Amino acid sequence: MATKHIIVTGGVVSSLGKGIISSSIGKLLQSRGYSVTIQKFDPYINIDPGTLNPYEHGECYVTSDGTETDLDLGHYERFTGIRTGRMNSLTTGRIFKTVIERERKGDYLGKTIQIVPHITDEIKRNISVLASTTGVDFVITEIGGTIGDIESAPFMEAIRQFKWEQEGNVLNVHLTYVPYLCAAGEFKTKPTQHSVKELQGDGIQPDILILRTEKHLDRHLLDKVSSFCNVAKDCVFQSENLPSIYEVPLNMQAQGLDTAILRCLGMDDAATVSDMTQWKAFVDKYYGASRSCEVALVGKYDLQDAYKSIREALVHAATHQEIKVNIRFVNSENIDASNVGEALRGCAGVIICPGFGTRGTEGKIEAARYAREHDIPTLGICFGMQMMVIEFARNVLGYTDANSNELDPQTCHNVIDMMQEQKTITALGGTMRLGEFACRLAPTSLVRRIYGIDVIYERHRHRYEFNSAFREAFEAAGMKCSGINPDSGLVEIVEVPSRRWYVGTQFHPEYSSTVLAPHPLFVDFVKACNL
Ligand code: GLN
Repeated sequence: MATKHIIVTGGVVSSLGKGIISSSIGKLLQSRGYSVTIQKFDPYINIDPGTLNPYEHGECYVTSDGTETDLDLGHYERFTGIRTGRMNSLTTGRIFKTVIERERKGDYLGKTIQIVPHITDEIKRNISVLASTTGVDFVITEIGGTIGDIESAPFMEAIRQFKWEQEGNVLNVHLTYVPYLCAAGEFKTKPTQHSVKELQGDGIQPDILILRTEKHLDRHLLDKVSSFCNVAKDCVFQSENLPSIYEVPLNMQAQGLDTAILRCLGMDDAATVSDMTQWKAFVDKYYGASRSCEVALVGKYDLQDAYKSIREALVHAATHQEIKVNIRFVNSENIDASNVGEALRGCAGVIICPGFGTRGTEGKIEAARYAREHDIPTLGICFGMQMMVIEFARNVLGYTDANSNELDPQTCHNVIDMMQEQKTITALGGTMRLGEFACRLAPTSLVRRIYGIDVIYERHRHRYEFNSAFREAFEAAGMKCSGINPDSGLVEIVEVPSRRWYVGTQFHPEYSSTVLAPHPLFVDFVKACNL
């Protein structure tokens, strides 16, 4: 069949959860046997979010092909289990860069380059290329930002054209917000009506509306929206706040969203049967968890979205064991030797988070020391692993000035050093060691037992690495280098075998954990936390 397209737009306010809705639609279509991929357009001028502070847009998610992307790509992968890549994450910056580079090459010789048609053509080309290279049944394209923003205008025009040109194969799902006014005791649909009007003003008639709401909406309200917005009654849905984002696909299915999508695209809904059994079992386990544990997340960003993938990987791993994991954020900037015990009190496990720069690093090192000395299961990720190495060097090897060159370029004990190939790089955008690399696991190590295989592939995002000049000293003192890159010899995993569970990974295991395939390291970490 010709690829069908679902374009997801949002109105009224941002942060409505377009990523969750796009992922849920993907999951529901997959559950009927269709193949899907999901793509995001971000209307900012950065080429990718790799240079953004997490306070701007949350964590930077890294795909296996080494693209630094928006955190919504993480939802796409976690919900659907698909692998995304460079073609799944586009920004205004990248679209413009391609067009401008082509202009300089002379590809448009003699022509005036304009938003319409050149930028809009490039946007449409990126949707079509994803369809043709993946050959999937459905491409879901999420447009970041909110309808009416100046910066989303070229995307809206591109979609209008695309929908017109590919008649019958393109569907628009528009997500809006219905606020509840306490003083009036009423829900208000006016912002939704305005948002749809704005979309219609751009020449796009939404096919399906999803109303985000904090409380359940009555049918008559949905019908009112239907009548004011020219959208069929059975194409207006609500997405209420739910305790778990993983319930959203089930909730949307119960309302018939998948059926409506197929019908609007002229497909026979009776031709396929949805199987959400495994998904439902996961959600049941989430709500039915009989045990719970608390895990400390030691990081410097006091923001839910900054460590999104780590939080979700913990949920996946714990839920599969019918455990509820409560995450305690511990701000490493406030940690020192005098209060670390208090900060970590009662935590069954500790995660030392990734990061860049000096702020909050001494707190991470203190947390790593406390967890090692008190034998608390600990997972250090990327920068977190580097902090574990520095801590071990200072307190076990006695290198009191041990540090990373990133934090102290003068130290004699640069146990973490800049990677050789990074030393000549000056530009900061997209130049780290990015994406999936092989790692060979040491035969008798904890990680070899956990993964059950000799060679693993995990995703990276860093410039610094364990300094192999110190490897012998570490191994002799009890920190084992248990994962090595077979091509470069880089140390990718360290562990302390005398501890119950003390592992640091230079890679980011959290990026590849999914709902139906939790990551083995997180699964074993949570298990160790509950022994
Ligand atoms: N700042 C460290 C490096 O560049 C770690 C990066 C990270 O945690 N992703 O190596």
